[in-house]
Amino acid sequence: MTRVLISGAGIGGLALAQALRQGDVDAVVYEQDPTPRTRNQGYRIHIDANGNAALRACLPPEVLDRVRDTSGVNGDLVATFTQRLERVFAQEFPGIPASELSNVDRDTFRRGLLTGLDGRVVFGRTVSSYQWTDSGRVRVEFAGGGTDEGDLLVGADGVGSAVRRQLVPDSGPRDLGLRCVYGRMPIDAETEPLIPADFRRGFCWVAGDNGIGVGFAPVRYRDHPGGYLMIALVTTPERVGADLHQTAIDATSSWDPRIRTLIAYGDSTSFFPITLRAGTRFDPWPPGPVTLLGDAVHTMPPAGGVGANTALQDAETLAAELLSDKDLLSAVAAYERVMLPRGFDTVENSVRMIGQLTGR
Ligand SMILES: Cc1cc2nc3c(=O)[nH]c(=O)nc-3n(C[C@H](O)[C@H](O)[C@H](O)COP(=O)(O)OP(=O)(O)OC[C@H]3O[C@@H](n4cnc5c(N)ncnc54)[C@H](O)[C@@H]3O)c2cc1C
Repeated sequence: MTRVLISGAGIGGLALAQALRQGDVDAVVYEQDPTPRTRNQGYRIHIDANGNAALRACLPPEVLDRVRDTSGVNGDLVATFTQRLERVFAQEFPGIPASELSNVDRDTFRRGLLTGLDGRVVFGRTVSSYQWTDSGRVRVEFAGGGTDEGDLLVGADGVGSAVRRQLVPDSGPRDLGLRCVYGRMPIDAETEPLIPADFRRGFCWVAGDNGIGVGFAPVRYRDHPGGYLMIALVTTPERVGADLHQTAIDATSSWDPRIRTLIAYGDSTSFFPITLRAGTRFDPWPPGPVTLLGDAVHTMPPAGGVGANTALQDAETLAAELLSDKDLLSAVAAYERVMLPRGFDTVENSVRMIGQLTGR
C-alpha cells in the first residue's frame, strides 16, 4: 500500500488526508502544533465555490456534514465603503443554499476536518528535513529526533514550509510591505445592535483616505448562538504599535463613529499581527517523492479570501491523481502541472487585489 507522509495538519493537509483515507493509501499527518487549537492563524475563512467543490470531493459524507453543521450562517454580500460609511460597491449572492458553506471559523473548521482521522494525525511533531532513500522512497526527520519513511512526502506546512526550503531553496515568499492587524468583536446582545446592517451580511471593506483599510465580516455559528465580527486592519509596518487593539483604534480615529465603535468593542486579547506575503512563480522542481501543497508553495495575501480555497483545490487534485491508476511519480507530476500555474495565477490576482484595496 502506498504510504504518504503529510507535513502540516492545516486546511490543505487535513483535506488531503481525508480524501486519501477513502482510497487504498496509508496517509499520516505530522503537525508541529501541540494540539488541534490553532495559534494566531486567523479567525474567519471565506469558502467559495471552488472550496465547496473540493470539500465535497475530499471529505467522506459524515465529515462534510460535520463541517457544514459547524460552519457560519451563509452571507450574501461583498461590499466596499468609504471611511464615512458610504457604500461605493456591492455584489450580492442571493440564495446560497444551506448545503453550501460560505464561511467557517478556522479553529472549528480544523476540528471538523480532523473527524475520523484518529491515529492518522500526530500533533507536536515538527518535520525538519527529508532525504531520498536508495530505494526511491523518502525519509523525514523530526525536530528533537525520530524519523518516518514513506513513498511520498507532501509539504502542506504553510508559509514557512521546511519542506519547500529544502526542495526549492531561495523560493520563499516576499514581504509585500503591508501588515494585517487581525482581531474580533464578540457578537452578543450588547454588540449586535452596533453592527451596521450590511456588515451582518458578508465581507465589507472600508477604505480610509490614507491607504489604510479595514475588513469586517461576521461568523454566526449554525449550531449554537453567538459568534463574532472579524476585524482585519491592513496597514503599513511603521503604523503598527505594541498595543495592536490601540493601533486599530488610532488608525480609524477620524472615521465614521459606527466603525470606531465596532473596533472599540473588539476583544483586546484577540488582536495579532500578520505580515502579508506573496509567493513568487518558480520553475517546477525535479520529479521525485516530494511535493508541495497550499501556502507552502503559493502563499498569497488574504485579499479575495482564496488562499484556503486554493489549498483545498490542491488537496482535491492531488488526491484524485494519487487515487488514479497512474504510477506514483506520474500522478505527482500530473498534479504539479495543474497546481503550479493555478496557484501562482491566484497569487498574482490576490496581489493585484490588495494593491487596489490599499492604493499601493
Ligand atoms: C488573516 C487571514 C485571513 C484569511 N482569510 C482567508 C479566507 O477568507 N479565505 C481563504 O481561502 N483563505 C484565507 N486565508 C488564507 C488561508 O488561511 C491559507 O491560505 C490556508 O490556511 C492555507 O492552508 P495550508 O493547508 O496550505 O496551510 P495552513 O492552514 O497554514 O497549515 C499549515 C500547517 O502546517 C503546520 N506546520 C508548519 N510547519 C511545520 C513543520 N515543519 N512540521 C509540521 N507541521 C508544520 C502549521 O502549524 C499549520 O498547522 C487567510 C489568511 C489569513 C492570514
